[in-house]
Amino acid sequence: MFPPALTDGYRAFLSDRFPNERRRFAQLAKTQAPDTLVIGCCDSRVAPEAIFDVGPGELFVIRNVANIVPVYETGGDYHGTSAAIEFAVQSLEVSHIVVLGHAGCGGIRAYADKAKPLSAGDFIGKWVSLVAPAVEKAGDSTAEDYTTRLEHAMVSQSMENLLTFPFIRDRVDAGTLAIHGAHFGVATGALLIRNPETGDFAPIVDRAGQALRPSALVTCD
Ligand SMILES: [Zn+2]
Repeated sequence: MFPPALTDGYRAFLSDRFPNERRRFAQLAKTQAPDTLVIGCCDSRVAPEAIFDVGPGELFVIRNVANIVPVYETGGDYHGTSAAIEFAVQSLEVSHIVVLGHAGCGGIRAYADKAKPLSAGDFIGKWVSLVAPAVEKAGDSTAEDYTTRLEHAMVSQSMENLLTFPFIRDRVDAGTLAIHGAHFGVATGALLIRNPETGDFAPIVDRAGQALRPSALVTCD
């Protein structure tokens, strides 16, 4: 049986969202023109469309374990992440790439704590070995906040790896593509943005210069 929760969700979609946004879906059927590529983690709790409050057609999203961008290389067999990056940049010509890490990332923990693998399968161990270059950026591995540091470092590493793709480097140098890093706190709702100068992560700032923090958005009597 098809998952009942999804059947119920689709019923709601048919009765509410689809009729209300029919024109938008008709337009989207002709073409897609997202301006931003988000590279996030598969983790079910970190849905870019929910965090950024956008609908279909607004973000081109790649999700893999631990939001990893491999370095550019054409050898080996299959490169799902690189293929999607190539399509977003070369064909859709996005203006922004956002690497989105998150708190409590199981993929990062799988690397940091090798004693407790995420699964007993054939693939995750090899995939998360791509976290290795981020370790140097994360600093002291005995620090209490080491996992968070490594999550931040992996965002930075993926950003660095994006620049190994010649078609990305060319666009960044030409000023037609910008690469950003972000980290989402699942429990707190905090979105931190990587400062390109310092590499530190700090609350996102809006167009008026206001830092957006979850607590600031809560209204109390
Ligand atoms: Zn994750």
